[in-house]
Amino acid sequence: MGIRTILLQTVFPNLSMIRYCPYCGQQVEARIPLGDERLRAVCKICGYVHYENPRLVLGAIIEWEGRILLCRRAIQPRMGLWTLPAGFMENGESSLEAAARETREEAQAEIEDAELFAFIDVPGIDQAHVFYRAKLVAGQHAPGEESLETALFAEAEIPWQDLAFPTISYCLEHYFADRRTGVFRCHQITLTGWKRQAMADCALPSINERC
Ligand SMILES: [Zn+2]
Repeated sequence: MGIRTILLQTVFPNLSMIRYCPYCGQQVEARIPLGDERLRAVCKICGYVHYENPRLVLGAIIEWEGRILLCRRAIQPRMGLWTLPAGFMENGESSLEAAARETREEAQAEIEDAELFAFIDVPGIDQAHVFYRAKLVAGQHAPGEESLETALFAEAEIPWQDLAFPTISYCLEHYFADRRTGVFRCHQITLTGWKRQAMADCALPSINERC
């Protein structure tokens, strides 16, 4: 890494780490393109500009006879901890299709009657997490390749200390709170304490809930 890149990264901590153009294979340089305001990796030869944007994670809070479906992670990060079925949205699918696919992959389960429940911005790791609430079809579930086990938990049985990510905790807390009132709302939350370097040991994040 050149001294110029190191200095620029000090000023622009989100500088792309790609070194070579994915199209022509030549070295890229750190530059602010004309009309832009952020530093980008720009190919010196073909002019390709590498944009890095937040990624969407889609998941589902799935209920069956009053209990919630959780998966125990078989992969890093947070292997061995419990999560709601969730994962990165793929090109060509809708957000609901992504949530249903992740549920199928991680819990071999199908969902129905899905409603949007939470949109959680996580700017510290350049992600947004979107969760639907839904019903589990036929009560059927089983661990997929990314899960060690799947299980249905009543509210009193939720393993709060062994949940994999802050967004899972907040979804479950808000879900049970809404359920007690009998009215489910759509929640928009910004988690500000979850940083990329703290993935393996993230402290309790602060929260700004707008609705
Ligand atoms: Zn190029």
